[in-house]
Amino acid sequence: MIIQAREEIQLRRVNSEREGLLHDVEIWKGVLPPDSMIRHHVEQFEQLCTGMFDRVGSLYDQKRWKLDEPTFDSLVINVLGGKWVLLRQAVIQRTENSPYLKTLNDLDAIAEDCYQRLNTVLRNKCGLLDLSNSSPVSYLGPIARIFLFDEEAPCLISTPFGAANESNELGQELCRQTIPHEAAHAIFEQIPGLTDELRVKTASALATSKVGKRLRTIHPVMLNWLDEVIADMAGTALASLDFARSASVIMTMPEKTLGITDETHPIPLLRPFIHLWTLQKTSPETAPEFEEILNAIVSNDQLDIPFESLPSIVSVSMREVRDELYKLVDLIWKTNLDTLNSHSLGEVFSAVAEMKVSKRLAQELPAWGELRKGDPEVVFRLIGPSNPSSPLPASPLYLDPICCPLKLQFCCSSTVM
Ligand SMILES: [Zn+2]
Repeated sequence: MIIQAREEIQLRRVNSEREGLLHDVEIWKGVLPPDSMIRHHVEQFEQLCTGMFDRVGSLYDQKRWKLDEPTFDSLVINVLGGKWVLLRQAVIQRTENSPYLKTLNDLDAIAEDCYQRLNTVLRNKCGLLDLSNSSPVSYLGPIARIFLFDEEAPCLISTPFGAANESNELGQELCRQTIPHEAAHAIFEQIPGLTDELRVKTASALATSKVGKRLRTIHPVMLNWLDEVIADMAGTALASLDFARSASVIMTMPEKTLGITDETHPIPLLRPFIHLWTLQKTSPETAPEFEEILNAIVSNDQLDIPFESLPSIVSVSMREVRDELYKLVDLIWKTNLDTLNSHSLGEVFSAVAEMKVSKRLAQELPAWGELRKGDPEVVFRLIGPSNPSSPLPASPLYLDPICCPLKLQFCCSSTVM
């Protein structure tokens, strides 16, 4: 009797969770303009949820997840619900009378242009055919981004609210320039092993360079910045002088944060030098202008300050870090990679920079909501392996935060890139 009652309660709970989610999706779908990009994605999401709910019973595998079936069902619904909460942010900002609609349309256009240029080059030149064709969807909010799923679903990328502040033209432009950098992250994260391969190859090349022990201490620190350096180089190749100019202003603004960084981002003061190096390759005619700007905003005194992220027994100046960073950027540019089918990122970035025409490259919006028949892998990817001591999905399954620790007062509470 008790068992029956418990089953009854569980069943009701799961049903109401499922209905609650679908109801919410349905309501928001109804207020979106028909034929709009966002409505398409909401419809795909809805289809994915329904397909998942229909099939979740047959995909349940106790050995794999070590959960009872109602808990497993509930988990799947909750993970989908967590993803919906994020997608809904992009949805709410795009309803018909939203004050953000114009800004978001502009941002989506930039994201699409950047993403599809990279996508086209990586497909045609490097033969990488598995990349998602969905351009990222932008929204205004705290810096975080999310991959809905790892198939054709779009990546959501956020940009600070300053992007919509019409009274501050400069701030607006600076915030918008986060998009090329984030679009690059969105695509390179789909090439598994690229960063690891680059790390191994560049580390061994750096190890053979003729520098003393003291400067060698910088190398492991720099190698942790690889993903960000790649995104900065790609952003420069995509948006040229505009990107470099705005990114340099952002990166060099807060006086007190000039010499510090977290583990994965290069020091703000030095990031414009990555842009300068890349501009010299991808848009040499604009490089002198940028160099002049850079000389005006980064002083010699600043380059003399010590780099703080090393143990205090080793003293290395910013200038020395910059010069080692130049070596790393050069290696990133020219190293041929197996993950790119023997091409180098330099070839990719050059081709992307030459593809100037900003036209709609993705002709139609990809369908991603249909589950492949009886594919338990999709559920596995969705909720991940179950850990008996902590059966709930880990936070990266909901979102993948890329918060930068530098708090800029400039355009919002959080910073960019
Ligand atoms: Zn980044």
